[in-house]
Amino acid sequence: MLKPPRSAYIHIPFCHRRCFYCDFAIIPLGDNADSNGGVGSKTINDYLFFLKKEILSIKHKSPLSTIYIGGGTPSILNPNQIKDLIDIFKLNYGIDNGAEITMEVDPASFNENDLFGFIKAGVNRFSLGGQSFNNNLLEKAGRRHTFEDLENSCDWLQKAYSERLIRSWSLDLIQDLPSSNLDLWAIDLEKALTFKPPHISIYDLNIEDGTVFQRMIEIGKIALLNDEESFQNSKLTNSILRKSGFSRYEISNYSIPGHQSRHNRVYWKGIGWWSFGQGSTSAPWGIKFTRPRISQDYKQWVTSQCDEGLEYSLVNKSIPYLDLDEKIMLGMRLKEGVNLKRLFIEQGWDEEKTKTYLNQLLDTWKDFRENGILCNEGDRFFLSDPIGMDLSNQVLINMFRWWENIS
Ligand code: SF4
Repeated sequence: MLKPPRSAYIHIPFCHRRCFYCDFAIIPLGDNADSNGGVGSKTINDYLFFLKKEILSIKHKSPLSTIYIGGGTPSILNPNQIKDLIDIFKLNYGIDNGAEITMEVDPASFNENDLFGFIKAGVNRFSLGGQSFNNNLLEKAGRRHTFEDLENSCDWLQKAYSERLIRSWSLDLIQDLPSSNLDLWAIDLEKALTFKPPHISIYDLNIEDGTVFQRMIEIGKIALLNDEESFQNSKLTNSILRKSGFSRYEISNYSIPGHQSRHNRVYWKGIGWWSFGQGSTSAPWGIKFTRPRISQDYKQWVTSQCDEGLEYSLVNKSIPYLDLDEKIMLGMRLKEGVNLKRLFIEQGWDEEKTKTYLNQLLDTWKDFRENGILCNEGDRFFLSDPIGMDLSNQVLINMFRWWENIS
């Protein structure tokens, strides 16, 4: 029998407003939202009631080694609300000594007192959504925070880290925001490094359907960086962070030794995880289940899950992971890559089938292997860094084509 997951994601869907590039399952509460009895607090408390109900509805509980409170903007919640959530896990699941408990924070929605409160509640790792230190770029991306907010947040986190109040913290940046360029990006990176974050996530901008950015591109109001400009930014990221002692352990993630995100590795490795909250996806035993994105539907689903004991997300079946293509895709994001043969065998394929499909896949990757984009050590395949990681999409597109042909 498979063991219950040891990692849990909690989705807090509230934000003050929607950033221009965001299509997440969020509820914008307005710039004056205040969880301490002010604007939006009823909506927040109502959601937390159902969220806790869902967390408690799980029957097969096991102590957790990672918890990730993400969103949305979890720092809209006050420290007591965060403490309540962590305590529910402590009392009902158990939390390992030394567990990693991460919380996403937004520079415009917390202060140093809140930070101490979150730490007291049990959070020991923070992920700060900085995106840029440039006020013009932040404003054009619809972010609510300013350069000054981000500087203050970095200072508080750096201080808490140096005083060993927290185990680690991470800074998120976007490397190809519209109106940016190589010089501005270099300034952003250098500025980020002055705060010595032990972990940095560098994201590429994706234009999602229905976002303000998509509309602005359509009407010619903003222009995206071209492929060459994005590539140069990415090259610069690599060289600056590498020189500063960071290792790129995943396509978008860099850390100094000992500071990789343990929780995110669970996703990339395809190990099972719980997930709670509207729009979030759990995969306890490789079987994914996404909760409704709309509040009303989510609440109804929680009620039915509790009343009928459906436990959709918890079906304990000993079957192979269904999404092999996704497992390869996530594994290839990691520096160490994936052992393809092992994955195929886990899929239940016999030796002959494994050999045939592996040869077919390697055939579609022939050019990438010859050009040093894709490397291998035995059956473990990984992208070279930086070229392979920067061109990962092309390698993965070929893999998806292979997968479509055989499945
Ligand atoms: S703060 Fe994050 S989750 Fe909220 S709208 Fe902006 S990008 Fe989306």
